[in-house]
Formats: sequence, C-alpha cells, structure tokens
Amino acid sequence: MRRIRRRPKKLPAILSIISKTDGSVVGHLDRNDLVYRAEGNANLVLAIPHMQQVLRLGKSSRNSDHPSNDHVIMVTEYGRIMSSLFTADFTIEPKLVFLRIPNYQSLNNWLNQFRPSMRCDKEIKCRAGILYPDLAILRRDLLPENIQVKGETYCVEIKPKQGWILPKDILEALFPDSDGQFCRFCAMQYLKLVRQTIKRVSNYCPIDLFSGDRTRMLKALQGLVETPQNNFRMWRSGHLIYGDGLDSARFREALEDVMCQRDHTE
Ligand SMILES: [Zn+2]
Repeated sequence: MRRIRRRPKKLPAILSIISKTDGSVVGHLDRNDLVYRAEGNANLVLAIPHMQQVLRLGKSSRNSDHPSNDHVIMVTEYGRIMSSLFTADFTIEPKLVFLRIPNYQSLNNWLNQFRPSMRCDKEIKCRAGILYPDLAILRRDLLPENIQVKGETYCVEIKPKQGWILPKDILEALFPDSDGQFCRFCAMQYLKLVRQTIKRVSNYCPIDLFSGDRTRMLKALQGLVETPQNNFRMWRSGHLIYGDGLDSARFREALEDVMCQRDHTE
C-alpha cells in the first residue's frame, strides 16, 4: 500500500513584518521562523535566520498600553544620522518596520519560555520594530572579492557600557565608607549585587578598556570573559557559544580554533 507523506503543517503567523515604505508584507513569520536571541532592560531581539536579519522590539511594562511608535522612529533616525558620519564599512542603517501581531498574549507566552525569569516583568506590546542585518553571521557582502572564507567564522559582541566617573557628592551618598573612585558601571555592579540580579561583581571596567594602558585594557577584557553578564558574547557561524550562563570551555575551544587557523596561513 502506498504511504502518503504528509507535509508538515504550516503554523499560523505569530508576527508579520510590514514595510514602512509601501505597506507590503516583508514576511509572515511563525514560531519556526523566529529565534529568541537576547534582551536587555528596554529591548528584546529576535533572529530571523532565513532572512539573515534580527528584529529589535521595545519592551513595555505589563500594565501599560501599546506604546506609540515615536521612540523607534527616534532610534532609527538617530542611527541614520550617525551612520551618515561614518563609512558604510563600519555602520549599518536600522530599518523601521511596522508589525502585525494577531495575538500579543500568545506571542509573549511563547517568548517567555526562552527568557530569563528576571526579565519577564516586561513584555512585547509594540506595533513597530527595527530590522538590522544579523551580524552574528559574517557579512560576506563587505569582504573584498579576493578574500575566501573557509571553516568556521566567529563574531564577538562587546557592550562597553557607560564609563564616566561619578561626581564626588553622588559617590559619597552611595558609598559613604569608600574613599575610592567608581565609574557608573562599577557602581551599578554593587547595586545589582544588592538587588541579587547578579551573583558577583565584574572585574570589567569601561574606563580600563578605553584607558590606552595595555595592562588595564587586558584586565578589562579578562573581566568581560570571566563575568560576561549581558556585555560579552561569542558566536560561531551564527550560533551562540559563549555568554552569561554558558561554560567557558567552548570559548577556549574557539580561541584555539582561531589560533590554529592563523597558523595555517603563516
Ligand atoms: Zn569602573
């Protein structure tokens, strides 16, 4: 008897992306088209592997209304103006898109299984988002024609954070027993420790990273690797291999791989 192979059932779209320019549909996306990538305090990022793009969505508190699109319009305009000051090799232009989300509750329920529980006090309610190229994947369009890519490719994400020294009066109010100097990032580490959103303070300091002093810069980079938090991640051919909560063994493997690749070309 002939067996009839059933085609996998196409899931209903959980989110559609609509072009701001002409209102056309850029993509009807179901759960299999989207991958939770990361989030911070204000935004959540989804990867869309088949489009090689990521979609940044603003987060809202649970009890709030749908936010206006003013903020994403401001962010994309800011990106456009800043990009115009640099060459295209070093910048990407954000693309504002409108969203059609049939059921926000079901989108959020689906997303929550991937999100850290401490972030779930906010959710997605926005009606517009920002599309960027997925930079965890090597942008071959930026490579010179004579460059051939072989083997794995790596992407390193560093979020350097704000590194200005706190004014003396604020410092004394926050740390009355300390006579040292703290930058904003280092001060926030102690606040996060008290609030138990981190388990230990990082040895990273943005002022060290940008000091121009080799020893301090190395200390900053080692601090990022030891306590990546939300500020350091590494990807291999588009897959996350190191970041907060992941074993550093794969980071060391990646370093060995990169060093070996370099040895072969010398
Ligand atoms: Zn610092």
